Amino acid sequence: MKKIQMTVPLVEMDGDEMTRIIWQSIKDTLLKPYLDLKTEYFDLGLAKRDETEDRVTVDAAMATKKYGVAVKCATITPNAQRVEEYQLKQMWKSPNGTIRAILDGTVFRTPIIVQGIKPLVIAWKKPITIARHAYGDIYKNVEYQVQGAGTAEIVFTSKNGDQSRQTIFDFQDKGVIMGMHNLDGSIESFAHSCFNYALDLKQDLWFSTKDTISKIYDHRFKDIFQDIYEKDYRAKFEAAQIEYFYTLIDDAVARVMRSEGGMIWACKNYDGDVMSDMVATAFGSLAMMTSVLVSPSGCYEFEAAHGTVTRHYYKHLKGEETSTNSMATLFAWTGALKKRGELDGLHELVAFADKLEKASIKTIESGVMPKDLVQISEVVNKKAVNTEEFLLEIKKALDEML
Ligand code: NAP
Ligand code: MG
Repeated sequence: MKKIQMTVPLVEMDGDEMTRIIWQSIKDTLLKPYLDLKTEYFDLGLAKRDETEDRVTVDAAMATKKYGVAVKCATITPNAQRVEEYQLKQMWKSPNGTIRAILDGTVFRTPIIVQGIKPLVIAWKKPITIARHAYGDIYKNVEYQVQGAGTAEIVFTSKNGDQSRQTIFDFQDKGVIMGMHNLDGSIESFAHSCFNYALDLKQDLWFSTKDTISKIYDHRFKDIFQDIYEKDYRAKFEAAQIEYFYTLIDDAVARVMRSEGGMIWACKNYDGDVMSDMVATAFGSLAMMTSVLVSPSGCYEFEAAHGTVTRHYYKHLKGEETSTNSMATLFAWTGALKKRGELDGLHELVAFADKLEKASIKTIESGVMPKDLVQISEVVNKKAVNTEEFLLEIKKALDEML
């Protein structure tokens, strides 16, 4: 068989531990035999980040800006224990945080749906994508513990020295205060990413905040989304026959639970943190959750939502058998290949990535799956396979389809 050719390279970001092992196996077993795989390779493994003083992470993000599509393996975010384990020069920042700061995007998380693994919410038939704003609010707050009676105020001092002040509360006794912020520019980027992604997936976009209570802060989010929608996207949404609507977060929660799924739900930073864990759990497993960062300028970075699966890696190092689920990592690759194919007009590449996804889903639905899914699948005659066997079974199903 002739290998499918690529024209523009993917930005490939290698990572750590068990996912690094899976990364190599996916390439060797499921990609290289079929594709003339072109990538610009960046090793984001912790050793290389330390050696390059984390320059490699910045270079990888810059390359993503240049080429437009990246695929990333899970990476260790160092803590004190990792500094010791890897003898690090310093406690390097989270690579995802560094990449996000350079690309300035929104993270979209979508579960992979397979027959036999029923969502815990029985009405859900199609995946629900959470779009989480990744800047500000409670994550960049300033907090203060009030020790006794006194007045708390918000004071804003403008560049020319003008001040405006408002009383938060006249405390008669102990309590707590918090100050937080967001930026119009960041909310605008968030809105553009969400509207573009909805058009990409041809799915409805829902957006929710608590603007009835937060009449200035949350209302600003609502107004910015509505203005941008009317100005840049209404006509495109109507042409694509999809809908944008805004509703209160409590109403959104009630409607999502009653829905069939199949929409994108845009959430503020904290709401997105909480709701994405709920959606992932209700759909079955973190190992079945895909994740893509979309920048307002239209760059895409695909990854799995889970981490480096450290416990399995230590077993692997001891020579013990592992049964790690490679679905989310595989879908990061297929997502990136499909996007590259769309951008470069390579229909064969898009079709291949589609088939690879179908082959992997078919494998699980036929009863062959990693251990974590055996525990939740209702398929009869199911069988747990090890990490390598699972990829080989997918290859078998793929070869039948090609
Ligand atoms: P994790 O790697 O997601 O694993 C947590 C547990 O979830 C695993 O021990 C395993 O449970 C289960 N699990 C996750 N993915 C699985 C898969 N593909 N197949 C089977 N089971 C899976 O999270 P963590 O242990 O908290 O973090 C490990 C490292 O990953 C940390 O160094 C952290 O910094 C990093 N991390 C990176 C990213 C990223 O790069 N995006 C995200 C999160 C964490 P059992 O052990 O019960 O089998
Ligand atoms: Mg969380």
